[in-house]
Amino acid sequence: AKYTIVDQDTCIACSACGIAAPDLFDYNDEGISFACLDDNQGMTPVPEDMEDDLEDAYESCPSNSIKMADEPFTCKKEAAS
Ligand code: SF4
Repeated sequence: AKYTIVDQDTCIACSACGIAAPDLFDYNDEGISFACLDDNQGMTPVPEDMEDDLEDAYESCPSNSIKMADEPFTCKKEAAS
């Protein structure tokens, strides 16, 4: 399975990820993205039928803020490093 999380420290609020993967990414009041599966915890497996969208979002993010892994992110700090 794939897991995803947004590094909100580097996100530039460009909205590209939500266009590529509207079911996976949403934005807070400042336009900063978060993974909406589990409120940006990176612990919920991405449904298999959304993995292509995830790849698209990952590739379309201009600041490399979309993090993707084969294992759950255990904490946000880990995702940021
Ligand atoms: Fe932020 Fe990247 Fe999404 Fe743009 S594509 S809103 S920089 S996470």
